[in-house]
Amino acid sequence: MYEGCFEGEVENMNTNYNDLPLIPLRELVVIPGSHANIDIGRKQSIAAVEEAMRGNHHVVLSMQKNIATEDPTFDEIYKVGVVAKITQVVRLPGGIRRIYVSGKERVVLKNIISEDDYKRVAYEQYPVTEYPEDPEVGAKLKTCRERYIEHIKHTDEDRTTIAQMETVISRMGDIGEITDFIVDNLILPQKKKQSFLEITDGNERLDWILDQIAYCDNVMAIEAIINEKLNDVMSKQQKEYLLREKLKVIRGELGEAGDASEEAEEFREKLAALNLPESIEKVIAKEIARYEKTMTMTPESSTIRTYIERVLELPWNKESEDRLNIKEAKVILDEDHFGLEKVKERILESLAVRQLSNDAAGTILCLVGPPGVGKTSLAKSVAKAMDREFVRVALGGVSDESEIRGHRRTYIGSMPGRMIAGMTKAGTKNPVFLLDEIDKISSHYKGDPAAALLEVLDPEQNDSFTDHYIDVPFDFSNVFWITTANVAGNIPEPLWDRMEVIEISSYTEDEKVEIAKRYLIPKQVKKTGLPSDYTLSDKVLRKIISEYTREAGVRNLEKTIGKIFRRLAYEKVNDNKTPKRITPANLKQYLGVSKYVEDENKKIDTVGLVCGLAWTSIGGVVLPCEVATMDGTGKLILTGSLGDVMKESAQAAESYIRSNAKELKIDGEFHKNKDIHIHLPEGATPKDGPSAGITMTVAIVSALTNRKVRHDIAMTGEITIRGDVLPIGGLKEKLLAALRFGVKEVLIPQGNVKDIEELPQAVRKGLTITPVKTMGEVLEKALVD
Ligand code: ADP
Repeated sequence: MYEGCFEGEVENMNTNYNDLPLIPLRELVVIPGSHANIDIGRKQSIAAVEEAMRGNHHVVLSMQKNIATEDPTFDEIYKVGVVAKITQVVRLPGGIRRIYVSGKERVVLKNIISEDDYKRVAYEQYPVTEYPEDPEVGAKLKTCRERYIEHIKHTDEDRTTIAQMETVISRMGDIGEITDFIVDNLILPQKKKQSFLEITDGNERLDWILDQIAYCDNVMAIEAIINEKLNDVMSKQQKEYLLREKLKVIRGELGEAGDASEEAEEFREKLAALNLPESIEKVIAKEIARYEKTMTMTPESSTIRTYIERVLELPWNKESEDRLNIKEAKVILDEDHFGLEKVKERILESLAVRQLSNDAAGTILCLVGPPGVGKTSLAKSVAKAMDREFVRVALGGVSDESEIRGHRRTYIGSMPGRMIAGMTKAGTKNPVFLLDEIDKISSHYKGDPAAALLEVLDPEQNDSFTDHYIDVPFDFSNVFWITTANVAGNIPEPLWDRMEVIEISSYTEDEKVEIAKRYLIPKQVKKTGLPSDYTLSDKVLRKIISEYTREAGVRNLEKTIGKIFRRLAYEKVNDNKTPKRITPANLKQYLGVSKYVEDENKKIDTVGLVCGLAWTSIGGVVLPCEVATMDGTGKLILTGSLGDVMKESAQAAESYIRSNAKELKIDGEFHKNKDIHIHLPEGATPKDGPSAGITMTVAIVSALTNRKVRHDIAMTGEITIRGDVLPIGGLKEKLLAALRFGVKEVLIPQGNVKDIEELPQAVRKGLTITPVKTMGEVLEKALVD
């Protein structure tokens, strides 16, 4: 071969050569007369391209001996290369230049004459010896042409290409030209092509080509046999393996080897380990294959990759072992929560049923109650008791179905829905899954989230819930569902039917004091690092509860206690003293002016102002009702964002008063010469329901007769036109609210007497509960003479 013969000669011949920028190539030989695309990434080579483009666009191309060498020296490059013309340069991402070149002439590289930014190489032409007169060589040339045409006829090339090649080759006359053309089109390893490049003797070249055509024919014949056999015996997996290997080689050739294939391999291993049902595995495997084929660094490739990662990290088969020991569960529930006996009992019952029957796995618990009564923390305790993972998904304000079910992957930035995201977070397929505020989801033009939720909750169908993004069914049937709601009535009907509702009511002041002492304060002590025996006295706690945090639950109470403790911790660090005792007197320093005292001061008997009781999403509340009368034409004005039922109640009240004007000592003509304005403050909150009937009646009568109403009495009850008082719902919450707001006596419908038994002791003790049957009784109790 060529290499040896030039050693040593290089030095002496230095001066007469041409020189050009050199680009060493990795695994590529450019043959004179051929065209090629080459991606250039190395700094020196890019500089060489730039230099060539400033000049006559010519470079010297030569293959390096070792593909891995980053910066080959002169000796690490083959000495025979080509001069080529760069016809186009395209900039690719990552600073890569793709150049289009056409090979011109064979040259011998002599030496490097400079290598600052790029290597500049001196070279000499290296022509082929032709034998124009020799008949033997002429015959060989003819055979060579014919054998090659024969050869390509057996390849996969289409007819037109073959015909074109035939024409091209028949027009060529030189041995050099013909052999170059054939070598360029034969499928040969690059090293072989290099050795061909180095042959100068035309006769020798023809022999070499005839050998190679024979070799290629052989390879093709063997390949055909193997393929045939492979088609018969090769299993699908083997075939895939082979194809994948081929792909790897192709990608290697294209210079984008590595990452995608390796990653795809990892994905495949993970997928195999998951042991998924065939139908699902197929879909994911297809995506992995797609990923492998897509060019890395493209947006599409990263989208597919995210998808594969998301799917593979789902807990397909990971399950935690249940602890279904009822006794232990009881201990844990008791440890975490004060009181709530009935609620805990119901939860334990549900666990017991689960232990005994598989069917019960489908029960969905729904904890209904005002905010801060411990719904979320109970659900957490259930998870702890069962030794399951816990996830919480807030549904408040969800109106778009795709938040539950995910976006299709065709969307840009699509994501799985909250259910699938929850499962990923849980990491097991049987977590305790809390769906918070299920009563706050709403239907919308973007689909019905409740329907999607139903699908995931329904034991009949949730073993194959399909998220739009994930696009393969996922099994939710092992999940322990717990939902929460503030108002049972707002839960979408179909969901409601499938749930086992457990109501949690507001806490009384005594209960709140206990919860604070046993749970909230120790939590804060731990958080702030104050002495472990530090606590707040009952008196202080009661003041906080009644003057700073009038609420159904204990959420604000917890926050307020937190505020005090943070302040105490600050003082301790700042003054380095033991923390001060909090007393009712110094509480103001920590919490500011009390929020509700002002209202208390206003509490005096007033004309036209009556305390009603309402049941809202934040628990029971005391709802004042104001009435003013003025000269007018008998209009009934209602303000305060009242619903239809409430408006009708107001009309019923008016009719009752008109028909009983005489007994009530009211001018019978009031509906002609007076306007009545009924207002329920806090107009921004919508109010509805019939239970304000008697409240409005009392307020109107008071305003028309100018008799004051007792400030310490509150009432609830529906009114009929004839003056009967009908029973109402939510008595417990309403009475707890009355107690919180310092009401002394409450008028309730006779029909609700049966509910009194269920009221907490504190309510029965703290309030005078007076059942009433008729409006007459109500007015008698409420109005002051
Ligand atoms: P919800 O989910 O009903 O709005 P949370 O569970 O968030 O209420 O409760 C608010 C806080 O009050 C939590 O820190 C919780 O531990 C505490 N809490 C509520 N009820 C109790 C209780 N009965 N015993 C102990 N802590 C309670």
